[in-house]
This record gives sequence, C-alpha cells and structure tokens, in this order.
Amino acid sequence: VRKLLVVLVLASALAACGPKNDASGGKVAVVANFYPIAYAAQRVGGGLVSVRSLTPAGVEPHDLELVSDDVDRILGADIVFYIGSGFQPAVAAAAKRRDHNTVDVSSGLVGRGDASAIAAQEGSSVHSNDRDPHFWLDPTLMIKAVERIRRGLKAVDKAHAATYDANARRYEAQLRELDADFKQQLAHCARTEIVTAHAAFYYLSKRYGLEQFAVTGVSPEAEPDPGRVADLSDRIRRDGVTTVFYEELVPRDFADTLARETGARVDVLSPIEGLTKKEIQAGDSYLTVMRRNLAALVRALDCS
Ligand SMILES: [Zn+2]
Repeated sequence: VRKLLVVLVLASALAACGPKNDASGGKVAVVANFYPIAYAAQRVGGGLVSVRSLTPAGVEPHDLELVSDDVDRILGADIVFYIGSGFQPAVAAAAKRRDHNTVDVSSGLVGRGDASAIAAQEGSSVHSNDRDPHFWLDPTLMIKAVERIRRGLKAVDKAHAATYDANARRYEAQLRELDADFKQQLAHCARTEIVTAHAAFYYLSKRYGLEQFAVTGVSPEAEPDPGRVADLSDRIRRDGVTTVFYEELVPRDFADTLARETGARVDVLSPIEGLTKKEIQAGDSYLTVMRRNLAALVRALDCS
C-alpha cells in the first residue's frame, strides 16, 4: 500500500510540474487575452506551446464579453497571460478565479496615461477606466511584457527553459530594433501632433516625443463629444496637421468628417488591438504593422 501511495504522489507531482493539458497535444496550453500578447506568447513558446487568443480576429477588444467556452479555456489552460487595468474586465474576473500561472503582463507598466483622454471617457456613458492599458504600442514596454511571458512559460515547463530563453531573446532583439528605428525616424519632424481615433497612443507618444490628440477616450466605445471634435478641428487648422488617423476595427466617420472640415487627409494608424482579416491574409504581425505605423507617422509629420 505504501509503495502505491508513493507512486501516486510522484505521478501527481509530475503532473503538477509539467504541461498537462491533453487537448493541446502535449504542448503547453496558453490562453492570451488578445493579439499582441498571443503573438508574443507564440514567439517565446514556439513549437512548445499552443496559444489561444480570447479576442477573435477582426474584433475590437475593449470590454470583450466572454462566452462560457472562453471561461472554460481560461480555467483549463496551463497558463494565462492577460492585461488588467480595466481593459477587459470579464477576462480579468475569470483569470482571478485561477490560483496559479495567471500573469497580468501589464502590471506595473500602465498608469493614468493622458489625463484629458481619461476625462473625455469619464464624461461618457462608458464605465470609467482608471488606467490607460495601451502599453504594447511602446516596444520597450512590450519587451517587459515578453520578459514576464518568458518567466511564466519557464515556470510551467522547466524542462524547456533554454528554448524559451533563446526564443525570447530573438523577439526582444527585433523589438529593440523596432524601437531604434522609431527613435531615429521620428527624431526630426516638422510637427509632433497626432490626431487619432481613440486614445491608444499615449505610451508611444511619450516614448518618441509626440503629442496625442484623440477624439474619444481610452476606449473606442466612448461617444465623441461634439465640443472635442470642434477643438480638434481648430487645432488641425492652427498647427497645420496634415493627417487625421483612423483605425480599422472601429467606424471611421469622425475621421472623414474632420478631414472634410479641415482639408486634412486620412490615414490608418493601427492600435494593434487585433489584426484585420486582410492583415492576417497578408501574413502581417505586430512587427510589420508597427513598421507600417512608423511609415504613416513619418509621412504625416514630415520627418526627414
Ligand atoms: Zn484601445
């Protein structure tokens, strides 16, 4: 009897250490809240992980609602990476029901952001977020999230620690290169003001010396305030802003209206809250969309 007990204890200890999710074919079952985090987890995990994003492709992720299958996936995963800070309260609530291997990759990386954007949102019918979650648009903050993903995967799958380290180093090197290119190409520009749809670009602006003027608050669901649209229209004319940016996962009416009123043109600046179907088909990734954002900023701000 004692021998059997030892075997059972050993077996359960082994099961607790290694990846245990049979549904993912022996791979570590990873659940990520949305695209940039899922992509980072895929890069760090490589062939050792099976990553599932809770936010479907082409869906705007703020305040994502979960179906019961999603909750089951969160509870059943070997590890969950998500973003707290009021970005997706339903995801955070389900994640908190787990007692281990649940990583808020944004913890300590996010703050109040742009106070006026938060205020714009608090004046709306949308529930108020006290933090600006959009850290992933600053590649140096993304590196910090990648570090957390690396540590998390090593904790659930110690046997492959060296592979996770090597994969993370490779992705981090690409993020550092991206950061260097943003710094260099945005160093000498005619203007610094960017007019955007929702206030997703505070961390990016802070990193590269830009100034964000957003139509809505930190969530795109907030209704634009007509007064704010009029202010933006004045600013565009006064400062010679050439471009009104829109994003592809939310309606672009405001951008067209502002452009028509001011003679500015419209262009895409992606908050990378998900890839569009077109981007998926073209094989785009966080890195390629960020590079397209950089090219759009260089055009709009007349950088030399
Ligand atoms: Zn957003």
